[in-house]
Amino acid sequence: MRRYTVGMSYANEFLPGRSARAAAERAADLVEVLLRESADTADIARVLLAHGENEPLGLTAADVPEMREVAGALYDVFAAATTGAAADRLNELLARHAHPPRLTTHGGEHAWHLHVDSRDDAPWGEWLLTSSCLALAVLLADRQRPPGGVCASPACRRPFADAGGGSPRRYCSTRCATRERVAAHRRARPR
Ligand SMILES: [Zn+2]
Repeated sequence: MRRYTVGMSYANEFLPGRSARAAAERAADLVEVLLRESADTADIARVLLAHGENEPLGLTAADVPEMREVAGALYDVFAAATTGAAADRLNELLARHAHPPRLTTHGGEHAWHLHVDSRDDAPWGEWLLTSSCLALAVLLADRQRPPGGVCASPACRRPFADAGGGSPRRYCSTRCATRERVAAHRRARPR
């Protein structure tokens, strides 16, 4: 049950922007899986492990309801239409759930990094909310724009972290962008 929030175990991951981006991408993937009707601990564990968490996760079915509730609150941050709306939502969640920032190495297993949950073995729901809000807030402040979005494809609406340069992303993936482009082209074609 070793959880890290902002900061990774490799020297080239220490840049604040980069670790916040990784944590924001993890948040988007976890929100997506948690909001599926059928989400179970195996699905959630798969996403956590893919994002660098270590076994044993200590994740049980009892953790899922709170994690799903948190995912709903985080979805609203991804869905916020403006930078101000995303900041307001993050401020509300941080005011309600964050603890004073603290540095941890999880007993020497990771590099020093920041957490705003209450303790290293806090419940998964608390960890998900606080680590996600911290990362999304860092991204927002670094880039002065919303830290993520929700896929513009009506059939998808999957949340994504938007940490790239250039124009804001509209779709979660090139697959959705292509599908919508083809659909728009068909609609525009004379009958
Ligand atoms: Zn999509």
